[in-house]
Amino acid sequence: MTKFSPYWWDEQPQFKNEKEFPFSSDVVVIGAGFTGLSAALTLSKAGKSVIVVDSAAIGYGASTRNGGMLGSGHKVSTDDATRQYGPKIASQLHQEANASLAFTTNLIQENQIECELQLCGRLRTAWLPKDQIDMSSNLKKLQSIENFNSNMINPEKMPESIKTDLYFGGQLFKDHGAVQPRKFHYGLLQLAIKAGAKVYGESEVFDVKRESNAKHNTFKISTIKGSILCSDVLMATNGYTRNNLSKYLARRVLPVPSFIITTEDIGVEKVQALLPGSNCIVETRKRYCYYRPTPCGRRIMLGTRAAMHAVSAEEALPIIRKMLLEIFPSLETVKISHCWTGFTGFNYSKLPSLDCNDGVYAALGYCGNGVAMAPYLGHKAALKILNPEKRVTVFEEISLQTRPYYFGIPWFLPLATIYFRVYDLFDYYRRQRALKK
Ligand SMILES: Cc1cc2nc3c(=O)[nH]c(=O)nc-3n(C[C@H](O)[C@H](O)[C@H](O)COP(=O)(O)OP(=O)(O)OC[C@H]3O[C@@H](n4cnc5c(N)ncnc54)[C@H](O)[C@@H]3O)c2cc1C
Repeated sequence: MTKFSPYWWDEQPQFKNEKEFPFSSDVVVIGAGFTGLSAALTLSKAGKSVIVVDSAAIGYGASTRNGGMLGSGHKVSTDDATRQYGPKIASQLHQEANASLAFTTNLIQENQIECELQLCGRLRTAWLPKDQIDMSSNLKKLQSIENFNSNMINPEKMPESIKTDLYFGGQLFKDHGAVQPRKFHYGLLQLAIKAGAKVYGESEVFDVKRESNAKHNTFKISTIKGSILCSDVLMATNGYTRNNLSKYLARRVLPVPSFIITTEDIGVEKVQALLPGSNCIVETRKRYCYYRPTPCGRRIMLGTRAAMHAVSAEEALPIIRKMLLEIFPSLETVKISHCWTGFTGFNYSKLPSLDCNDGVYAALGYCGNGVAMAPYLGHKAALKILNPEKRVTVFEEISLQTRPYYFGIPWFLPLATIYFRVYDLFDYYRRQRALKK
């Protein structure tokens, strides 16, 4: 029987804070995922009193539902970033992507967080021959900005990493890795608590009001457990940001779901036979399948877009399974042990953002790439709160945009599902044409 909850949740108990709910602090952080906890850790270490509140159980959001792929890189190419923001910002975007990976890897290693960190590398696989050429040219541009540990893999070398004939080569990111995300989240939570942060689940925030007086700003944070007065607020709600919390942010961050399945235990030998490189794999096609061996090395986990709008994991299961079988037909008789979904946060720039609107900070917009970036940007948001005059990151320059007729309820995502399903067919057509050449 398939379980419709994250595979990771089988292995780690929920943390519950039974201590009395406090009513004032220096900073309130809304959202207890990677972003919120990392910000709380840095702020607490700097001597601030911090309360972190989450509407659901602590760790309910994407931070414990993701594929655990630890990597860097943006959804926007260097050329597009240069066109839009100029060469200086484009360079900094690349540098800070690398910095986020180094930051989070160090955070885990220095604090000895037990989260099954594997520095296994990530292979980005080319769906079309053109993708291989584009990746190669982008790699040269990125290396000229700041060197990083990556090289192209020719098609004939691909079987050393993966046993499928679907791809036309790939790009290997050698410093990327993988974690058990729920364990990473739990370790980060313990560090933040140890540093002095108070973290509460089941404490939904429904209003953030600024109450200014002559001396300093005061915010009143209304939660279902009572109100908290504080000097600074950080929204760390990413794909779980809704209108009832912030109309401003809900208009700027789209909740786009992602879906994952995990196979039953198929044994180390079978996994190794299919994924001999033990890398995390991500594809270039729009469908964007990403997969990896689980930390025990006995199962394969695969995520993809089953729909652009929220559908149940039950509904998504046959769609994702079909993708798994397309890549590895030999898994036809294998059972799926887990299937689940969670929300990523996409903004219109397709880049993370450290925003400040009317004195309220927000760090979000990871576009499905937050295992390394969310702890990093949470840390940067904390530095900004500690020193508001100082520019702490390039992501301050990435403004959160909205669009006309979008008021925070993504009515158009079901239409986007149809658009992308047609696009997926087009992707197959292009691949067939490439194969004939
Ligand atoms: C299925 C899936 C697979 C993914 N795979 C990967 C991957 O392999 N690699 C990678 O780099 N990234 C991946 N991601 C993205 C990554 O998980 C996220 O970018 C990252 O976890 C975001 O962390 P966060 O702390 O900002 O947000 P979250 O962890 O989503 O936390 C936000 C929290 O805010 C809380 N909240 C919302 N509203 C309120 C309110 N009103 N009051 C109080 N609390 C509130 C929510 O309950 C939630 O717990 C994946 C995401 C998903 C969904």
